[in-house]
This record gives sequence, C-alpha cells and structure tokens, in this order.
Amino acid sequence: MILQSTSPFSIRKYSEPEETPNVMTLSRELTPDNMGKVITVHTSSLFDSKQKRFVSDLSISIDASTGLITRVYKRDGPVNDASHPNTIDLRGLTVLPGLVDAHTHIFLHAYSEVSSLNQMRDESFVERVVRATNHAKAALMAGYTTYRDLGTEGLRDADVNFRDTINRGIIPGPRMFVATECIASSGGYETRLENGFPGVGQTAPRISDPADGVDGVRAAVRRRLGAGADIVKFYADYRKRILRYPKPSWPGELDVLFPPDDDAFTGKRNPNILLFTQEEMDAMVSEAKRSGAPICAHAQSPEAVVMAANAGVTSIEHGYMPSEEPLKAMKENNTIFVPTLAVYQVSLGDDSHVMKAILKHIKAAYDHGVKFAAGGDTGAFAHGENVFELELMAKAGIPVPEVLQAATLHGWEACGGDLCGKRFGLLDKGFVADIIAVDGNPTEDFSALRRVKFVMKDGIVYKDEHKRSSLVRV
Ligand SMILES: [Zn+2]
Repeated sequence: MILQSTSPFSIRKYSEPEETPNVMTLSRELTPDNMGKVITVHTSSLFDSKQKRFVSDLSISIDASTGLITRVYKRDGPVNDASHPNTIDLRGLTVLPGLVDAHTHIFLHAYSEVSSLNQMRDESFVERVVRATNHAKAALMAGYTTYRDLGTEGLRDADVNFRDTINRGIIPGPRMFVATECIASSGGYETRLENGFPGVGQTAPRISDPADGVDGVRAAVRRRLGAGADIVKFYADYRKRILRYPKPSWPGELDVLFPPDDDAFTGKRNPNILLFTQEEMDAMVSEAKRSGAPICAHAQSPEAVVMAANAGVTSIEHGYMPSEEPLKAMKENNTIFVPTLAVYQVSLGDDSHVMKAILKHIKAAYDHGVKFAAGGDTGAFAHGENVFELELMAKAGIPVPEVLQAATLHGWEACGGDLCGKRFGLLDKGFVADIIAVDGNPTEDFSALRRVKFVMKDGIVYKDEHKRSSLVRV
C-alpha cells in the first residue's frame, strides 16, 4: 500500500500491508521529491513491438510524475548506476511492453468451476465484484497491464465503476477499457430461463441492451457511451435458438428425442443466427465513429463476420468458422481479428476436429495478412492465465514476434488507438511506462511468458522478483 519517498526519491511501488493481508490500498500521492524526476530502466533484450524484433542494450527514461516514457536509447557504455535507487536493472531478463488482453470479462470466472449461465443468473452482485478484484490483481501480476473488457454479463454498467476504482488507484489491476452491456436485437442475447411462466416474476438479470431498427440501434450506441463505455460491442450473430431443441437443464431431465447434431460447424440444434441487418450494423458503426469510440462485433458465422467487417467495425471477436470470405473482408477493411482461441480450447479440448480446424483457419487468416489482436475471452478460464491465448496462437503457427505484437501494439489499436487517450503497447517516447520482464527468451522458450518477474504500469512498480534489481523495498 505504500508509495513512500526515500532519498533522493522513491520509485513508486505497490505492496500489500503485512498486518492486514486482505486489505489492499494503493497510495497515488506524488511526493514533491518525485516531481519531474527520472526513473531509468536498463535492459539487455527489449521487444520492439513495432518492428517485431528484439533489440539489445537499450535503456528507458521515465518521468516519475507522469508515468510516461521520455526516452529510449542505446547505451554506449557500461552501466554505472545500477545500484542507484532511481534505477531499475532488468538486464538478464527479456523486457516487453505490458501485455494487452483484447477480450476479457472481468466479472466471469472459469466455466470449469461454474457455468456462465449460473454465474450470471445465480451469483450475487457483491460476490461477482469481489471476485473481480482478485481477477484484476491476478492479471496484473501475470504481466497484463491492459484489459479490453467486452461486457459485464449481467452486471449492467458496473464495469464502468470497477474500471474507475483501478484508475483511481484503489485496487491493483490492468488499465481497463470497458463495453458496459453489449447491444443485441430483441431476444438475441438473454439469460436462459427454460421454465419461465407467463405473468410470473422473472428474476434473471438482463445481459444485453436490446435494440432494433436503424433508429433503435443508434439510440443504443448513444446509451452505452452515455453510461460510460469506452468501446461499443454488438452481437452480429448469436446461437439464440437453443430453446428450439433445448438440452437437459437439470440433472434427471430427459433430452428431446432424436435432436439434430450439435457440431459447432454443422449443428442445427443451436446454429449461429444473424441478429442485425446490414443497415443496422452500418448505423451502429457510424454512430460509434461519430462519437469517437471504437466498436467491435461478436461474429461467429462467416456471414456475420463479412457483414460486420463491411460495416467498418474496429474488430471482430471469435470468427471461428473456416471460410475464405470473412478473411478477405477483414483484410480489405483492415479489421482487427480477435480469434479467442482459448475459450474454444477450454470447451472443445485438444482432440476435437473443430479445434484443429479453428487453428488451421487462424493460420490461414495470418497467411492472408489479417491483423490480429490477442484476447482469450478470459474469464471463461482463469484471469492470470491470460497467456494461454498467446500459446494457442503460436500453436496455430503464427510466428512468435507476430503473436507478441498482437498482444501489445495491436491490443492498443483494438482499444481504439489514439481514441484511448493514452498510448501503450510499445516502449517508445510518449507511451505510458507499461513494462514487464520475463525470465527467458520467448522466441526460444514460449513458456518464458509464464515467468513474469517484473511488472510496471504507468511508471508504478507492482511486481519485482528480479534478484538483480536495485529497487529499494519500502
Ligand atoms: Zn466474450
């Protein structure tokens, strides 16, 4: 909790008080000593996310009062100030920009623990928010300094307030860009209540902002931005006809007789159905753009991907069904593709022919020149395990430097780029000092990304397990 000043000034550092281990506070006071002072970070291998290459022997200057990088320079001599209290020596580790998870749900926890339906329907508001504080910390400690959080899944606009508690320094966590509720057409994305009875009170929380027609969807975009969203999300399609051939919803309930198959590609039991017309998608995108906000679309079927890309969305989420048309549409429209491989992997498993086909499709997208950002639909699996998505991208055959760019600079672009009001995802002058260091070289050993030894966000140190660091413990 302490950000104390020691002579000549202290690097601001988050720590939990030992006497009250469950209480986390973060002082964000700047001492007069810190004003205008410079933190120096020495590196021996630093990932340049623009050039997609590792550069040796760079040092970084950070303005302690703004958290911004003021200079990145090649050292022309030996390091003489390694033990200086304002110096952080990360030589021997691999340094990267803080990672950006481009598709998260801070209020969800692993589906292997509780299904998303039961979380949304049955867990209390307080429990879900308290869980989210743990999720935020776990993600930050895993090197994720930014979250693009795409929907509260039943908590209305609570992500706005949650984002602000992090931005105000009350709890540690990634910088968040939030979507509040997602926009879906009537009946498109709702909590399932198979035994709802007409006229009897329904207690399920709503999980989307329903809107129809060109005027209606424009109004919905305005509502979302008015509620505090940083990014708008709509459902271009969804598997909304699950109730036509419902699966048993409680132990002992009989399945329907002879249901259609449920294959993710060919299944008719619960197919992807378009939720909006092209005109409606066009209207949402133009309204978001007019308001200076990025906009993304959940789109799984090839048709939905093509429509949303042609409408001009910033990014497509999921897009798992193999087809060339959507790849062409994303390439032509410079759409960012967030394939959320991790959520498919946790639900399908390694051996599924569907998962294998998805990985092939992602490689085809890469070969086609589609731009990626990395987001796992994190929440479907544990926050803190975010790097799982990067591992699957690498497994699909995308070269490691490309994966790292997707997880850094392209993550910033998926958040809206300069619409964010901040620059991150690259270690360069004018960008925020989001700096992580891992033990090992990810190009040789990808598991290095699971050994995060150092985390700085906005120039504040949240984790430092590097034995050679000169940080003064406070
Ligand atoms: Zn999602």
